[in-house]
Amino acid sequence: MKITEHIEQAKGKTLFSLEILPPVKGQDINCTFKTLDPLVELKPAFIDVTYHRQEYIYKQKENGLLKKYSVRKRPGTVAICSAIQNHYKIDAVPHLICGGFTKEDTEDALIDLNFLGIDNVLVLRGDPIKTEKTFVPEPGGHAFANELVQQVVGLNHGKYLDDELQETHATDFCIGVAGYPEKHFESANLSLDMHYLKQKVDLGANYIVTQMFYDNQKYFDFVTKCRENGIQVPIIPGIKPLTAVGQLSSIPKNFYIDLPEALVQELLKADCSSTISQIGLEWSVNQCKELIKFGVPALHFYTMSNSKHTKFIAQQLF
Ligand code: FAD
Repeated sequence: MKITEHIEQAKGKTLFSLEILPPVKGQDINCTFKTLDPLVELKPAFIDVTYHRQEYIYKQKENGLLKKYSVRKRPGTVAICSAIQNHYKIDAVPHLICGGFTKEDTEDALIDLNFLGIDNVLVLRGDPIKTEKTFVPEPGGHAFANELVQQVVGLNHGKYLDDELQETHATDFCIGVAGYPEKHFESANLSLDMHYLKQKVDLGANYIVTQMFYDNQKYFDFVTKCRENGIQVPIIPGIKPLTAVGQLSSIPKNFYIDLPEALVQELLKADCSSTISQIGLEWSVNQCKELIKFGVPALHFYTMSNSKHTKFIAQQLF
């Protein structure tokens, strides 16, 4: 079922949803089920699975020459989505990225997803990999998420890259895209970022999932600005509990967001790791309660494949 249908059927009640990462290469599917089993008890409406682009490493060969290897640390997004749908009968949402994909690769991936009975995709550009200063599109691929939205919409109308194909099957994917209440890190300002977000929606995106944030006012302002700009699709807030002192620097550094002063001060006063975790979890619970009151369509948890913290929060809400 489509995410937009889940939201419609909920009739204003906030849904619970989550994002997991594929296990690192060398693990089996039970690793994923182990993460999900405790969370599935809380009946998530849908489960996103991230996509991880291949990175490049160099290894010295015996003759002293360097050889370039392509490594994907967390493969298996499409297969994991299929396994989730078969095992739990819960809609899985694969993330689809521009990086590393030609348009043909994307078309093949969408055909696979359609054969597997997957109804939703979260369409993203992807971040630059470690060896890139800025995002470099695959030759023959897409440079921005809006181009990828266009390709998925095209396939939804039976438009394949080979336009000589006859009697083509039209897919029917529901399309999600990313939004940034504190703006995307590469964007000159929030207004320009909003302009490109609107482009993604105008091209056919059906809903937005936000980057994580810790100050609800940022989300409320973002929703207001979206509506003022004519973006009417559901805007699902992304939630990630802060549970370790190292995240005081790693979260702003990796996700380009601010942490509220009150949260930082409380965390700095904490004397041990369990107190830090308790403060972070309580902050998230309060954040979620306020968001539910506001009437958000779903609370989408970035679990980082750790079920414990998400379960603790969700149990108090759903
Ligand atoms: P875009 O919408 O393409 O925007 C990227 C930047 O370009 C923005 O600054 C935007 O303002 C600008 N821009 C957009 N269109 C144009 C244009 N036509 N001309 C000029 N500038 C333009 N990454 C992964 O690799 N795998 C994942 O599974 C993954 N999941 C994510 C899930 C969520 C909910 C979020 C919020 C992010 C996720 N990411 C993931 C990270 C994401 O790929 C990065 O944030 C990436 O840098 C931007 O992706 P985007 O889809 O927002 O890009």
